[in-house]
Amino acid sequence: MRGRVIKSTGSWYSVQVEDRQVQARLKGKFKQDELKLTNPIAVGDWVELAVEAGQDTAVIHEILPRENYVIRKSTRKQHFSHIIASNLDQAILVITMKNPRTSLGFIDRFLVSTESFRIPAMLVVNKVDLMKGENADDWLLDIHEIYEPLGYQVLEVSATEDQNLADKFLPFVRGKSSLIAGHSGVGKSTLLNKLAPGARQQTKEVSNFSSKGVHTTTFAELFPLPGGGDLIDTPGIKEFGILDVEENELSHYFPEMCKYLGQCKYNNCRHVNEPGCVILEKLEEGYIHPYRYQSYLNILSEEDSHR
Ligand code: GDP
Repeated sequence: MRGRVIKSTGSWYSVQVEDRQVQARLKGKFKQDELKLTNPIAVGDWVELAVEAGQDTAVIHEILPRENYVIRKSTRKQHFSHIIASNLDQAILVITMKNPRTSLGFIDRFLVSTESFRIPAMLVVNKVDLMKGENADDWLLDIHEIYEPLGYQVLEVSATEDQNLADKFLPFVRGKSSLIAGHSGVGKSTLLNKLAPGARQQTKEVSNFSSKGVHTTTFAELFPLPGGGDLIDTPGIKEFGILDVEENELSHYFPEMCKYLGQCKYNNCRHVNEPGCVILEKLEEGYIHPYRYQSYLNILSEEDSHR
């Protein structure tokens, strides 16, 4: 049988097999690859499994190759990493202007991560019902003006007021596997409950089952959407982190810089103060947004300090 991992709680995995869920575990030891994963299986993985005779549990015997994934280095165990989710069609960052405020720098770090993982990304501005007045208009205008020309769709919604959910948000996610990320408090759970009703209820049953002596951690969880597709919630995961991006590679993950890189006369240009650097020229000419360039510099220096 083939199924998709929807939740991982240590040694047990909830796997969606057609229209039912089974609790499965791994058979024997799985060979760890060069990623040095803390857990060989990730939410979103497609697996081959066999139901155990006379029981409602199953054994996973194969993990199918991943199309893509988002990964995070473990903070405690320096050399290990953790795949947050795999086989994604897109990543959605939920942002808010207030309660809490999402900074442009945070958005840019997220987009650099998704670019480096080659996963299309979009921004969903939630709590638009709270956004009144000139400041709100300016903030929203900035978001549209900065990100849409780069190819990132921006959608405004209100999860509690049901604004733009069924008519705009749902068509974006239907039939696709979408990762949902964002600061805690931006409304991810509220959105999830609106779009995948009953999701939380199901979750409770699953964790009751697997909490018997099992260390439960809050990791990603996949919720099937009625009508096809799924949303992968990532509670407690603030950032994926930017993995092993070399200094001269960072600009590849800024689409507005990437398109000019072929014209830069230096091979390993940092685009900081090199005379005649094409990126600095384009910045000067207004083709690169100064906020984005500032984020580029910030990430460059943060990553520098980690080296
Ligand atoms: P999460 O941490 O991202 O999962 O955020 P929650 O879904 O738990 O939402 C945090 C708080 O924001 C809750 O009190 C929600 O009721 C509230 N909230 C969520 N969406 C909206 C919205 O569109 N408008 C307003 N005004 N409040 C919202």
